[in-house]
Amino acid sequence: MPLVQLARRTELVARLAETWVRRPPTPTRLVLDVTRRCNLRCSMCRTWEAPAGHELTVAEIGAIVDQLPRLCWLDVTGGEPFLRGDAEALLLEIARRARALGVLHFPTNGWFEARVVAACEAIVRARPDLDLIVTVSVDGPEALHDRMRGREGAYRRAIGTLRRLRELAGVQVYVGTTITRDNQGAMGALREALGRELPGFRAGEHHLNWLQVSGHFFRNEGAAPPEPPAGLVQEHLARRGPPRGLVELMELVFLVNREFVGRGEAAGVPCQALRSAAFVSPEGLLYPCHVYDRPLGDLRERPFAELWSSEHVLKARSEIEALACGGCFTPCEAYPALAGAPAATLRQTARRALTLAGEAIRGR
Ligand code: SF4
Ligand code: SF4
Repeated sequence: MPLVQLARRTELVARLAETWVRRPPTPTRLVLDVTRRCNLRCSMCRTWEAPAGHELTVAEIGAIVDQLPRLCWLDVTGGEPFLRGDAEALLLEIARRARALGVLHFPTNGWFEARVVAACEAIVRARPDLDLIVTVSVDGPEALHDRMRGREGAYRRAIGTLRRLRELAGVQVYVGTTITRDNQGAMGALREALGRELPGFRAGEHHLNWLQVSGHFFRNEGAAPPEPPAGLVQEHLARRGPPRGLVELMELVFLVNREFVGRGEAAGVPCQALRSAAFVSPEGLLYPCHVYDRPLGDLRERPFAELWSSEHVLKARSEIEALACGGCFTPCEAYPALAGAPAATLRQTARRALTLAGEAIRGR
């Protein structure tokens, strides 16, 4: 890793580490949902059915960002963010105003190649110091992907966007796959397809997610998640070998713990929702995260710091600690949880890794 990048990562970890000792006065990590609209019709997500609503404008988003001086990790999500005609302006406004920001990530279905590429080029020019991360969703080989995403041509457009993004300097590009009952048996075929489509494609460029159920975000209550996957760690190590950096180490730590959550154990690592992390809806409502359907207040009406330190939000946080939300271990929330609670992470990961090693020795 080049020295500059190492220095940036170290600074980012130091900023995120504030939560190790106290609840920061404003979040250090935010998921900002900028639209419920989407041009695709995925089988596992119905956000596009929601009325268009009164989305936060670029100016309103800029004003929210100004109130978050500690914000160092931001995920901009949707819907399809690039269905907004002002997506590039919105991302640029964030990049310019969030001066403490170290990581800016957004997912896209890859349909709007030119818009995504232009936005990335503009962000890299404006903030070359940022870790700019883009995840393009691909759920299976062409026919399966198009069927799951509800629109012919979705796969070809996603691959086209991936090819262009992978050529850009300053952008870290990943393929993101949501595993559902429809594609859980097609991961091998997907990996082969990605290897053919994307020259030099590495296993480390492919991130897996599992179908999540969320009333306020995906609007997919009643969806049936896939069977809990088993053998993730062994498969991961077989494909990639030992971790070669912080990101790969975090991924392995996540998988070790995910394996046991899949077996029915509680995660045992406290989540960071409303401690150092939060979710904001397209209309400016504050939520703990993208899963827990508990609106906490309107950022159009109250300053962020005031809402964040209100009794209402503090009560919600203590209820989350007691798992009133039902708990979860989704990748988007598990990574901040693992990074935010190093002692619990070390304890749980060591115990679970030893169990897995014992099972491997016994040939289970
Ligand atoms: S999963 Fe993404 S691409 Fe699919 S409908 Fe939902 S927002 Fe759109
Ligand atoms: S455990 Fe999961 S569902 Fe509960 S608040 Fe945290 S991120 Fe949200």
